[in-house]
Order: sequence, then structure tokens, then C-alpha cells
Amino acid sequence: MRNILSSALLAGTATLLSACATPLAGPAVGLPADRALPRAATDARAPVTLLISIDGMHPDYLTRGVTPNLSRLAREGVSASLRPAWPTKTFPNHYSIVTGLVPDRHGIVGNRFIDPDFPEEIFTLPRLEPHWWDEAEPIWVTAEKAGIRTATMFWPGSNSKVRGTYPSDWQQFNQEVSERQRVDAVIDWLRRPADTRPKFVTLYFDTVDTAGHRHGPDAAETNAAIANADALIGRLLRELEGLGQPANLVITADHGMAATSASRVIPLQTVADPSLYRVIEGGPYAALEPTPGNEAKLAAALLRPHANMECWARGQMPARFQYGRNPRTPAFVCLADSGWTVTDRPVDPDYGGGAHGYDNLDPAMLAAFVAHGPAFARGRTLPTGDNVDVYPLLRRLIGLPAATDIDGDNDLIVALD
Ligand SMILES: [Zn+2]
Repeated sequence: MRNILSSALLAGTATLLSACATPLAGPAVGLPADRALPRAATDARAPVTLLISIDGMHPDYLTRGVTPNLSRLAREGVSASLRPAWPTKTFPNHYSIVTGLVPDRHGIVGNRFIDPDFPEEIFTLPRLEPHWWDEAEPIWVTAEKAGIRTATMFWPGSNSKVRGTYPSDWQQFNQEVSERQRVDAVIDWLRRPADTRPKFVTLYFDTVDTAGHRHGPDAAETNAAIANADALIGRLLRELEGLGQPANLVITADHGMAATSASRVIPLQTVADPSLYRVIEGGPYAALEPTPGNEAKLAAALLRPHANMECWARGQMPARFQYGRNPRTPAFVCLADSGWTVTDRPVDPDYGGGAHGYDNLDPAMLAAFVAHGPAFARGRTLPTGDNVDVYPLLRRLIGLPAATDIDGDNDLIVALD
């Protein structure tokens, strides 16, 4: 793992050095490979499909006047708002985008959850053991099995050997690898000769989400993070153009962001006696397991009306959530109203910022969607769609046959030219 990370950092370094050093491979000594290619060779480059996640990017962020690159792509290409799956959390929704399945079916049912088959463990963000991820097959695995080369510059699940397969190139997630280094690593992959150049690439930015959590969706700091992500998209576009590399860009997000406040907190201990439950996850919703022998008492405390929150036992959430059949889903879910926080922890008077995890029909949870490239229509705005619909679109773009038995449908295929 360490070696792979160092090669990511080295890849970034290689980009910086390429302007003044002899490239290791290329048709002409002394010039970067892209500039040395004859025109016919650059013309022959097949489009790459680039799936980019700007974590926490709400569609309204594109209307704030800080996204010249993304707004141009949206104007010239296709744009939409996407409904995330519930729970509106990072790992479940990133996995929905690359599997076409809702969390109940792909198995990543939260950012934290337990699996009855592994009762001693809790799934948390760094867990890489394949058994957590193997309930579904992400698109890079299907592509690799079909002989389509893939590379992931971070994506949840891509640093696990899902169903026995890694992407041809992948990186161990590390926030220390700057977003600019991530862009440069993707460009270095695309600099390769055709036989080792990936056809499908993911790229992941996390700082818009971080700023949204820390400062709230409407803060100046969040706008600065959005502007920074947009500038990196601009850098990516310039580099692609310099390479003569056509790209079908699918830029989206896992969820939006809602403002939170110390004045909108539901202390769990006011709802049920803390001896009755174990908190697996708190925040916009609480995932609770009963302590041994206390299921009925906990159900009595939770399954009644509450101000600003509704609780359900496993399998009892309204059908539209599509959640509760997977044995990994919590015994009880208490979902707060938008902007409220349900927690067993003390809350500081200055608690605030933003959060996601609310009802996936909450407009604050919507995710941006922008698609641009030779395969896409020009100047088309689509109605609000579902993020599981991205997967069939990706399959079409990279030349995989249509999938059956998924939750996504072909609504986004209309984005194609
Ligand atoms: Zn996220």
C-alpha cells in the first residue's frame, strides 16, 4: 500500500519535472511525450471517460458566480440535479454511483454500520477488507474483467480488492495528497501510450465537503473551496487539451449539505434511556442497536411521535427510502428534520456548520451533475434524476453492455448526443 501511495506522489512529481527532463518513454527524446506526438497520433486518441466526484457539491453551488469552468461545462454540455440514495452519506452514495444500486442492495448501508456476520467489527471509512464491499460489483471491476483498463484517483471501494479485482491503477486514499496532485496523477496516466492508458478514470475532491461541514453551505469559506475545485477542473481541462486527449466528463457529487445549529439538537438521552441502546452513528440520523434484552423497551421509547424527528424499526421505513432489507441496516433509525442533529454527545454552544444524511428528498441533499464531451448533448438541462442512473450512463460511455437487475434506469442516457 505504501509503495502505491509513493508512486502517486512520484507521479505528481513526474509532471512537475516533465517540462525540464527527458521523458522515460516517448517517441522523441527531449520533449514531453504529448508534444512529441505527431498530429495523426493525437487525433487517434479515443475519448477517456472521466468520473469526477466533488464531495458535497450542491447544484446551487454552480450559481454563485465562483465556478467559471464548471458553469461553462454545464452551459455547453448537460446539467441536472441528482437525488442521492438514502442514507445521504458519502460512502453509500459513492458506491451507488458506481454500481447502479441503492445502499440496501450494494451493502454499504452507512458511513458506519455493523454486519451480523462480523459482530465484533464496525465498518468505518478506512475499512478495506473486501467482505464489506463484495455485495456489489463496481464498474471498474466489470470493466477490468471485460478487458477495459481503469484507473482510480480515489473512490470509495477502489482501494479494496472487490470480487478479486483492483483497478489497473489505484491509490490508497490519503487526504495529504493534494487535489492538484490528484489532477496531475490523472494526467500522467493519460500521458501513457495507448496500450497502458486507462479508458475509465475516477477523480475525487473532498475539500468542498470539508468546508461545508466546518463552516456551513453558505459560508465564504465554502465558496472559496468551490472556487478552488473549479480552478482544478480548469487545470484538468487545459492539460487534457494540451495532450490532445478527448474526454467525456461526468462530474457529480454524493450529496449536498444542510446548515446545522446548536439550536436544532435532539439529545438522544431525552428520547430513550441510554442503557437501552448503542449508538452506531449519530448526526442527521441516529443508527441504534438495542442492548441485549432491551429491544422491546427501546422500541417503545422510539416508535412514537417526536418533535423534529421520526424513528423506525428495521424494515419499517417508508418504501421510498428503499432501506431496511439488508441485515447490515440498523435495528432502529431515527431521522431528524433537515438541519437538525440527533446525538448522544454534548454539543458546544457554537456548534454549527453543515451536515448531510437527511431525507434524500430534502432539496438541500441534492447533488450537482455536469456532463461534457464528444458523447454528450450540448446545452441541455435535464430534470432532477437519481444518482443510481449515472451507472447505466457510465456503462454506455465505456462500451459495456446494458446492465440488468439494477436500481438505476436509463433516464440519464438522454444526456448523450
Ligand atoms: Zn460526501
